[in-house]
Amino acid sequence: MISIERGLEIVSSVAAEQARQDWMPSEIVPLTESMSRILREPVSSDSDSPPFDKAIRDGFAVRFEDVQRAPATLRIIGESRAGAGADVEVGLGQCCEIMTGAPLPKGTTAVVMVEHTERPNVESVRVLRSVRLNEGLLRQGTEAKKGDRLLEPGRKIGLADIGLLASVGKAQIAVSKRPRVAIIATGDELVEVTDRPTSSQIRNSNSYTLFIQSARAGADPVLLGIGRDNLDDLREKIRVGLEADVMLVSGGVSMGKYDLVESVFAEFGVRVFFDKVAMKPGKPTVFGFHRRTFVFGLPGNPVSTMVSFHVFVRPVILSLLKAVDVQRPLLQAKLEAPAKCDPERAALVPALVRFDGEGYRIATAPWKGSSDLVGLSKANALIVIPRREGSLEPGETAEFFFME
Ligand code: AMP
Ligand code: MG
Repeated sequence: MISIERGLEIVSSVAAEQARQDWMPSEIVPLTESMSRILREPVSSDSDSPPFDKAIRDGFAVRFEDVQRAPATLRIIGESRAGAGADVEVGLGQCCEIMTGAPLPKGTTAVVMVEHTERPNVESVRVLRSVRLNEGLLRQGTEAKKGDRLLEPGRKIGLADIGLLASVGKAQIAVSKRPRVAIIATGDELVEVTDRPTSSQIRNSNSYTLFIQSARAGADPVLLGIGRDNLDDLREKIRVGLEADVMLVSGGVSMGKYDLVESVFAEFGVRVFFDKVAMKPGKPTVFGFHRRTFVFGLPGNPVSTMVSFHVFVRPVILSLLKAVDVQRPLLQAKLEAPAKCDPERAALVPALVRFDGEGYRIATAPWKGSSDLVGLSKANALIVIPRREGSLEPGETAEFFFME
């Protein structure tokens, strides 16, 4: 049995070994469809930003030395509005009316806010407060110079990036194609969501959580339905699954008599790198590779499946997408209740995190083991309980990540 850290090292080294430009290739999408996709081209500024010296206040463009001693009365010689500058040169004792976003007229070095002025008549303005040099304006190129690199490939496109891309004229963007993730649930006890289970059956829930987790990670998931616990049925499903970039098989990887998934992996020649991780839940997690497919056998229990995906599958999808950040950042919170450690396995326990003004507080959610979706739905995070003797005490700092 290997540690979570070792498992992650193996996963990332196999992912690095398989990394090629053509897997995944990029595709061009319209700006409106690029949110949260992984950028595949460098983005540079196509002009200075701002492209001209501009006002960032409504008011009067002045020569700042004219208003060093306030109040000062200046003669208005023109108007500069957004989209149409004033063709004037402002001289001593003069100023130009100006609006936010308008080009600064020649000769001026500051903008006085309209709130700090009075109008004795239409031709002149009384400036009530002095201003500093360059106050109320933004000089050409202060945000970026033409040709500056603004965004690097591998970045997950965020909301501000959408605005930035629009501002540099990118209506179409190269992003990573979404890898196909084939999802197979296994078990003789499973029925579909729309079916009514008999007393010995349960509904298939893993396919749906895996579908959403895959889609959120940036993949294009496909549900291949339920494989029954017999070799023929599993072979059939796994054959189709191995055509995808990533195959996820849930259930059938524990020690039970009908846990046949690993033997079918072996029949197909899947190279298995590990099949047990010192992790609770999620111990029977299988990771392998076959031709052009990352292969995962995930534990059947719903909470275990979800946790295993978070830890091992998500980084593989993000590596395929050529994302720079493949690991979810760990955050820190103060424990509100004790949490028992296990010297054999690190645990990732559903927990409830809240913010109390000083920082995050965390307590494990009331859950009844790794099949308890009811308990899990009360949690918003997974707390990391380190592999060691003893327990974490209230007030101690613990690491966690949000489940979303
Ligand atoms: P297994 O790993 O196949 O032994 O399954 C472990 C537990 O998870 C069993 O109680 C299964 O009934 C349950 N389970 C397996 N697959 C699913 C699924 N797709 N949806 C919900 N529960 C499942
Ligand atoms: Mg099973």
